Amino acid sequence: MPDALKISKIVVDPNLCIGAAPCTTIAPDAFQLNSEGKADVLPNWQVVDAKTLLEAAQSCPVNAILVYDEAGNQIYPK
Ligand code: SF4
Repeated sequence: MPDALKISKIVVDPNLCIGAAPCTTIAPDAFQLNSEGKADVLPNWQVVDAKTLLEAAQSCPVNAILVYDEAGNQIYPK
């Protein structure tokens, strides 16, 4: 991953999320399980560095975390 990676948007697909929660362990400042057992993206997720956010997305067993770069391209999952 290039150092300059900038993430502009993160989305959790609630239809895919199974609440397995590695994302909340890896990036607790970005993801939190809600009352339905699905991960929400926290409002201040941008405090987490891009590498960690990508790692959290890659940790999701069902690829429910969609990551977009500055240009609006989906960079994960590919
Ligand atoms: S890792 Fe994936 S399935 Fe687990 S809580 Fe996060 S988004 Fe949901």
